[in-house]
Amino acid sequence: MVDVLVIGGGNAALCAALMAREAGASVLLLEASPREWRGGNSTHTRNLRCMHDAPQGTLVDAYPEEEFWQDLLKVTGGITDEKLARLVIRASSTCRPWMEKHGVRFQPSLSGALHTARTNAFFMGGGKALRNAYYRSAEKLGVQIRYDTAVDRLELDDCRFVAAYAGAERIEARACVMAAGGFESNIDWLREAWGQNELGEYPADNFLIRGTRFNQGVLLKSMIEAGADSIGDPTQAHMVAIDARAPLYDGGICTRIDCVSLGVVVNSAAKRFYDEGEDFWPKRYAIWGRLVAQQAGQVAYSIIDAKAIGRFMPPVFPGTKADSLEELAGKLGLDKQVFMQTLHDYNSACQVGHFDHTALDDCHTAGLAPAKTHWAKPLDTAPYYAYALQPGVTFTYLGLKVDETAAVRFGGCPSDNLFVAGEMMAGNVLGKGYTAGVGMSIGTAFGRIAGRQAAAAVFKKMDKYAAA
Ligand SMILES: Cc1cc2nc3c(=O)[nH]c(=O)nc-3n(C[C@H](O)[C@H](O)[C@H](O)COP(=O)(O)OP(=O)(O)OC[C@H]3O[C@@H](n4cnc5c(N)ncnc54)[C@H](O)[C@@H]3O)c2cc1C
Repeated sequence: MVDVLVIGGGNAALCAALMAREAGASVLLLEASPREWRGGNSTHTRNLRCMHDAPQGTLVDAYPEEEFWQDLLKVTGGITDEKLARLVIRASSTCRPWMEKHGVRFQPSLSGALHTARTNAFFMGGGKALRNAYYRSAEKLGVQIRYDTAVDRLELDDCRFVAAYAGAERIEARACVMAAGGFESNIDWLREAWGQNELGEYPADNFLIRGTRFNQGVLLKSMIEAGADSIGDPTQAHMVAIDARAPLYDGGICTRIDCVSLGVVVNSAAKRFYDEGEDFWPKRYAIWGRLVAQQAGQVAYSIIDAKAIGRFMPPVFPGTKADSLEELAGKLGLDKQVFMQTLHDYNSACQVGHFDHTALDDCHTAGLAPAKTHWAKPLDTAPYYAYALQPGVTFTYLGLKVDETAAVRFGGCPSDNLFVAGEMMAGNVLGKGYTAGVGMSIGTAFGRIAGRQAAAAVFKKMDKYAAA
């Protein structure tokens, strides 16, 4: 029988597998996907958010614990567990040498990735290179890896792990780490969670999934049904407003539209509905998917003028281009009169200020609802561009409740050999909202804790047997 079974094949699972193996445990990792799709959402990532008190490696200046914590507090609106959040924050300052030991390399922040040179460590080659490095290291250390193996339920004895079932196959282990992602790829579950809106629409029917198709939440659901303590609202998720032309799954990073804070966003009624300049884009991009999901037809349009070009990472596909705002409205199929009124109201509400996209500048609107509080410049310079946006679900926040040991809990009682990491428990830290890079910080911190704990559970048990 293997010592530690790791279920999942993304960042959190690999961190757990590597830690358990380093601690001397034999490890079997089960990945639902075929080898070519291994790595889940982690494959799509670019960076992790790191606390540091002085310049460190590719990270400039300092990003102290308190600032990181305040950022998290702000985006989550306080729906976070401070103890666990601070644990993640502190772990983010020390994990990089360990990551490098397993082959991950870092590079300076990409140009166009706004405001992240100080806060986020970028993976050279992105998440795909990180994933490949971890798999290579795991194989070298003797971690057994099986692809095409989706676990659908666990066999438990009270709150102890006994075995996992992949279809009819029963796989025993002395301890287990679950890191099988959220349920973001399960459209039926999203549909059930989001329900119908007042227009009779099922918003989830228009959701696109930014990452893997394999995070179906099968294990998460079966654990909740088996009585594991859960946390989080099933409608809360990291949701980005992405290019409406993106594929249903795995569109990844290149479907992002990053010009929202440089212009205005209107819905299908040609009206603005939220402050596009509320805060720096990395702190706000993940709320826009939800905002668009709340609009009729779950569609919106990001409108910019020529002044914005060169100030954001250009999307892969060109936007709709027009020489006048009226022509743009026509091309988008929006009511021209309402659109022109919306743009006129916005343009005339913009106050003269000093535009600075690297600071929360003083370019704001006056007497406009909703206001645009920063980077508000009139849209007056042709050509004009528009990008149709749809909600892109990155990952869901409903997960299993944990404490700092990553143990799965049943009625408040922690299991002594069943642990959870990554998206399956990220909701403990992220009740809502998001700040860029914290998904990988959570997965790395708790993946490592879960792997270490699982190995310790195995050896503690062995000690017990030895003593008996
Ligand atoms: C496009 C995109 C860009 C992102 N960029 C960033 C970024 O730059 N920084 C950041 O911090 N976060 C980013 N994220 C979020 C980040 O991907 C997640 O927070 C993180 O990868 C979660 O890691 P994980 O291991 O929990 O999940 P995943 O990496 O999704 O891994 C889950 C794994 O479980 C497997 N699995 C699922 N069900 C089963 C089952 N029943 N049995 C066995 N295996 C199963 C899946 O195949 C997959 O391998 C991004 C996400 C996307 C989609």
